[in-house]
Amino acid sequence: MVFHAIVPPYLLEQLERSAGDPSLRARIRQSLQHDAVLRTRPAAGRERVAAAEGGRQRKVYDGENGTDLPGTLARSEDDDPVQDQATNQAYDGTGATWTMYKECFGRDSIDGAGLVLTSTVHFDRGYANAFWDGAQMVFGDGDGEIFGNLTASIDITGHELTHGVTQYTANLAYEGQSGALNESISDVFGSLAKQHALGESAADADWLIGAGLFRPGVQGVALRSMKAPGTAYDDPRLGKDPQPADMSGYVDTQDDNGGVHINSGIPNRAFYLVAAELGGNAYDDAGKIWYSTLTSGNLSSSAGFKDFAAETETAARDLFGDESPQLAAVTKAWQTVGVLGDQTPLMNAAQTNLETSTPPAAPSDQQPSEQQASAE
Ligand SMILES: [Zn+2]
Repeated sequence: MVFHAIVPPYLLEQLERSAGDPSLRARIRQSLQHDAVLRTRPAAGRERVAAAEGGRQRKVYDGENGTDLPGTLARSEDDDPVQDQATNQAYDGTGATWTMYKECFGRDSIDGAGLVLTSTVHFDRGYANAFWDGAQMVFGDGDGEIFGNLTASIDITGHELTHGVTQYTANLAYEGQSGALNESISDVFGSLAKQHALGESAADADWLIGAGLFRPGVQGVALRSMKAPGTAYDDPRLGKDPQPADMSGYVDTQDDNGGVHINSGIPNRAFYLVAAELGGNAYDDAGKIWYSTLTSGNLSSSAGFKDFAAETETAARDLFGDESPQLAAVTKAWQTVGVLGDQTPLMNAAQTNLETSTPPAAPSDQQPSEQQASAE
């Protein structure tokens, strides 16, 4: 199964329950039903075409409100902008993501080998989601009342494409803590794609995922906040943002693949804390540490939060040294969110509290996800 949607199922379910308007409820129900079908559908046998000469290669297709993929070709690399805004936004968002990976980390596309970035816009009618299906990006137009066009946020596009990067590298299982790490990595590099495109420093960035997605009238700023998990929205129709900011709020649930979109708030905030502590651009040192962790080959596909935290420390040590402020910032961030215990010799009461809030280990019955053949 390779289906990674940006809007989590619990949010759409809440919306369906609370929608007063029957037509909105019907549109949301249809989005949920499509997601359920798509979850079980393997990515079609679409070719992975390597760009002939390297470099950025984008193709945006128009789904014309149907569900056949990829649809009709609407804009290719180097084509001028077209009339359709969603097509241009998908073209720009996939381009910004490619450029961030190339310029910051030397990575040539999602697979590291020039994969053409394929997107389909106007998928279905009123579809309130966007997803990576293992081979391409797919964007709905939104239901029009709660969600607008899903191409509106660069970080959403960066998030979805990063599911592809993870698929080709650490291939984190989409379940429990490894799934929350998979989600968090997509938020981290999705946000970095936006920060890089806008030339924003860590201090200037909004650290929001999906800003601009909600229609006017929704009480919320985005789907998630990396800086302050749990504060992105609080709306009568959507409910309240359920993300915890540290391990004391860790949510043990079977829903949402074991809370992958919920507990991702914890590693998200750890990344934010590292970037804020180091200052400058988050896509420089903090981004390099996370990118190295993802691609080093040392991270198991079933890694939990503690494993990931330890690997980020290893990456910081390898990149910047034992006595570096970068390593100190990484350790401090994971301690702040309660994933690593306080390792200073001075005991205090806070340490005991942190250590007793350690969650149960990730479920041991996880199936290794996908085949490894395509991994780097
Ligand atoms: Zn995702």
